[in-house]
Amino acid sequence: MAEDNWALRGDLLDFTGEPAWADLQPPALRWRPAHWLLIRGSRIEAVQAEPPGPDWRRVDHAGRLILPGFIDTHVHGPQIDVLASYGTELLDWLENHTFPAEARYADERVAQAGAERFIQALLQNGTTAALAFSTVHEGATHALFDAAHRQGMRLITGKVLMDRHVPDAVRDDVPGAEAASRRLISRWHGSGRCAYAVTPRFAPTSTQAQLAMAGALLREDPSLYLQTHVAENQAEVQWVRELFPGARSYLDVYGGNGLLHRRTVLAHGIWLNDQDRAQLRDVGATIAHSPTSNLFLGSGLFNWRLAREAGVRVAVASDVGGGTSLNLLRNLAAAYQVQALLGQRLTAWSALHAITLGAAQALDLDHEIGRLEPGATADITVWDWSADPVVAHRLSLARSLHERVFAWMTLGDERLLRSVMVAGQERLLRQRAV
Ligand SMILES: [Zn+2]
Repeated sequence: MAEDNWALRGDLLDFTGEPAWADLQPPALRWRPAHWLLIRGSRIEAVQAEPPGPDWRRVDHAGRLILPGFIDTHVHGPQIDVLASYGTELLDWLENHTFPAEARYADERVAQAGAERFIQALLQNGTTAALAFSTVHEGATHALFDAAHRQGMRLITGKVLMDRHVPDAVRDDVPGAEAASRRLISRWHGSGRCAYAVTPRFAPTSTQAQLAMAGALLREDPSLYLQTHVAENQAEVQWVRELFPGARSYLDVYGGNGLLHRRTVLAHGIWLNDQDRAQLRDVGATIAHSPTSNLFLGSGLFNWRLAREAGVRVAVASDVGGGTSLNLLRNLAAAYQVQALLGQRLTAWSALHAITLGAAQALDLDHEIGRLEPGATADITVWDWSADPVVAHRLSLARSLHERVFAWMTLGDERLLRSVMVAGQERLLRQRAV
């Protein structure tokens, strides 16, 4: 029996395309209960109803949910240190909590321990791929790549660029930032499953010269990613207006510097206008909607339906440490609540799509991750439907698949996670506690 040939049985749920807004039975939903998922080496080889032959190592997860590994499109590696910090909005949260915490990552021992803690925490929450911010430090960014690389994880990250309006301990300059970025790109972009994202923190903390440098890196190699923040908070939007009086809008500061392309992911995008949405649609960039962060920092309510109607790609992200949980199910529950406050309904299908296939498409990786089909890399999560009698009772009363999955998503969290595979390797296996 080959050690790396796995056959997992469970209820398989994934998507073949984007579910239509508010559609409870979308054709893009693929539901295959009691099926076998066959994994050879790092890849999915087949999905079938019949049990496989004797050369497969069978693991029977009967009655459990099998989903593609979750993909977090916006999260900060070092910000586990500032989760749940009391009493601030974005700009003073950065000043009082985040910059001091990130400054500690100048120490490589702190950075290495932090990177290890972060990567393990992602896996313990069922997240097998991420687009993440590091800190301004080159060494800390190496450490983050290295920790993911050792797990075989899909990690896209980059050294944060910030050369103004930040404390000295976390400030770079244009020549130093460019040299460090180039060294990291040549070491990590395309190494294993790692890729590099040019990472200006946000417009207020980069000079015009630094944004132009970032744009030049992208022009040189369009396979690089670009991650940043946009239009999160009204005071921030006003500040950008003062700093860049010639720009049409906050988003246009990035557009004008060549930072918007197919591989651009912008966190938040709450305070955008119609022209901005059209610009995002035209370049194929993605908004990483971060609902627990938006609620926790009081930033505002992201209008998902409006973005979608304008043709903008939307993924859902944790934005830890502004966000309050690395667990993407908790973030989906919050995303539903944000839309409810706007008088709209987010289905479980749109929600789950936004952390699996939709997120993979945002990262231009849907040939590799986000779906359960032959040829895809075997990044897999296995979940219990419930861990306590009240939730089990609720689910037993569900009259439709949507009702059941929606209740599971809303009431669920990392305690339901049973197994995580990354590229066909088991990285987490929990025995049932009760
Ligand atoms: Zn963020």
